[in-house]
Amino acid sequence: MTVLASGSKGNATVIAAGSTTILVDAGLSCKELLRRMAQVGEDPAALKAILITHEHLDHVAGLSVLARRLKIPVFFTEQTHRAWVRMLTPRSTMSYAKWLELMQREKEARAEQTAAAFAPEAASTDSPDSNESESEAPATAERSEPAAPKVKADPAFLPAIEYFRAGHNFSIGDIDINPFTIPHDAVDPCGFVFHARSESIRMAIATDLGYVPPNVKMALKQVDVLLLESNHDLEMLKDGPYPWSVKQRVLSRVGHLSNTAAAEFLQRDYDGGAHTIVLGHLSQSNNLPELARLAAEQAIGTRMSLLGNRVLLAAQDAPLDPICL
Ligand SMILES: [Zn+2]
Ligand SMILES: [Zn+2]
Repeated sequence: MTVLASGSKGNATVIAAGSTTILVDAGLSCKELLRRMAQVGEDPAALKAILITHEHLDHVAGLSVLARRLKIPVFFTEQTHRAWVRMLTPRSTMSYAKWLELMQREKEARAEQTAAAFAPEAASTDSPDSNESESEAPATAERSEPAAPKVKADPAFLPAIEYFRAGHNFSIGDIDINPFTIPHDAVDPCGFVFHARSESIRMAIATDLGYVPPNVKMALKQVDVLLLESNHDLEMLKDGPYPWSVKQRVLSRVGHLSNTAAAEFLQRDYDGGAHTIVLGHLSQSNNLPELARLAAEQAIGTRMSLLGNRVLLAAQDAPLDPICL
């Protein structure tokens, strides 16, 4: 597992086993994702697919450009795919102000057209037919804005789309994948457990969740590498700069996992068998890496050793070194 970025400004993680490499989320620009992969020695050409946890921008920002560039399939739940397409597709209805602006532009284009028709070199005794002048208006508008493309490319175009459903396992090459539902304010958010068949290694990603429900506790048993959210320190969030409504959202059952909640999971429900625990999606405004680490290490307590339960912190601005088992 290689965490390329983790946090509210972008998430992406490379999972590799056997001859299969996949990317989970593409929340940075395509350029930045490629730059970070080069930095950690991952070959983008080796990527077989991109998996998406949910449609929030910090998980999909570079998705379409990267998938098109690499010509690889994207795995979503159907609902997440639809939400993502809606997000990228401009709304067909327009505001009154927008409509007025459009009418004004069309009026100016027609006026230009009429003026051209009456210019000395094109002088004619007949006044131009009003229908004809209207039908020619777009051509004039196009001439006045030659840079504007006639038909915009579909921003949601992807080379291939595959749907999965939470609770239904599927495989990509040498990796078996178990997607599980997480409580978060997106249409159909998922975490993943990856099972490297040939090496019997299990890796899991569980970020962007308001709390740890029983199905997530079950899914996170017997994992060797766990990327777990440790989003905020409760006191920092309460005293912090966010507006009240945002604080409520983060704290809610469909928001983000606090250091305390992550520690509670590690203390009460975690089976203690992981080689490495990566704390991720740390808030830059409402957390400090040392606080997240302290809470997790205290929770793991005596189970921490050289061989197991090493705690790492994933960062927003730089990739983590690959975690190799
Ligand atoms: Zn997120
Ligand atoms: Zn999210």
